[in-house]
Order: sequence, then C-alpha cells, then structure tokens
Amino acid sequence: MKTKAPGRARKKKDRQGCAVVCRAHDDWLTEDERALLLEEFPTGLPAQVRLILDKDEREWNVSRLASLVNLMPLTVRLLLRGWRLPVGSGPRRAIRRWVVDLVCPGCIAFRQRERDEQQAAAGRRARRAQLRARHRALEAARWRQE
Ligand SMILES: [Zn+2]
Repeated sequence: MKTKAPGRARKKKDRQGCAVVCRAHDDWLTEDERALLLEEFPTGLPAQVRLILDKDEREWNVSRLASLVNLMPLTVRLLLRGWRLPVGSGPRRAIRRWVVDLVCPGCIAFRQRERDEQQAAAGRRARRAQLRARHRALEAARWRQE
C-alpha cells in the first residue's frame, strides 16, 4: 500500500513550511523577535491583505496590490470585506511573504538602515554642493579683484 501520497505529503509540508518565518532573517532573529513576528502575523487572508494596505509605506491601492500578488482586484476587494474566497497557493504565498516582510523585525531594521544610509548620502551630497558653490563664489571674487 502506498502510504505516502505525494499530493497530501506536499500539502502537509507546505503548511509547515509556511510557518511564519522570514527566510532572510530566521537565523539571526532572537526568540523574542521571533515571538513578535508570530504575534504580529495576522491569521486569515482578509486580515493579511488589510495589513499590507495599512502598513506598507509605499502607497498601495487595491488594484496595484492585486496585480502584484496575481489576483483580480475584485477578489482583493471581496477579501477585504471578509469574504472567504478560494485563493490559489501562488497569491496566498505572495501575500504571506509580503506580510512577513512587513512585520519581521529583521526586515524592518534593514529598511530603517537603508533609509538612514540614503539620508546620510543625501546629506553628503548637499554638503558637497554647498562647498562647490562657495568655492565658485570665492573664485569669482578673486577674478574680479585681479
Ligand atoms: Zn526579515
């Protein structure tokens, strides 16, 4: 007798494999951070879609979100209204990954660091531009004196 049907086995593994972990940060998250991630992660697609629309800093609307996770905008709208709709594993997984990305402490820290670096770089650029402008003004003044 075949006890391990590939379909069922894969499904089961999927459910476990989809445990709320961030692939990028699972190794170095502390227990507390991992618990936080679990706590923050909402159950149910409606709540997850809602969280993406609420939390993502980029401006998402329903149709852009829908196209990104490969769903019809209507499906997303109905999900937001709490309908229980059958959603394929692809979109389901895409939403899941997105939510993990939004609530994972590691991902949040990473984005913050990136933002800080961008700000620092912008600051350096501005300072250099300022120095250049002053240098040019000084040169111009010297020219006029000579
Ligand atoms: Zn992460």
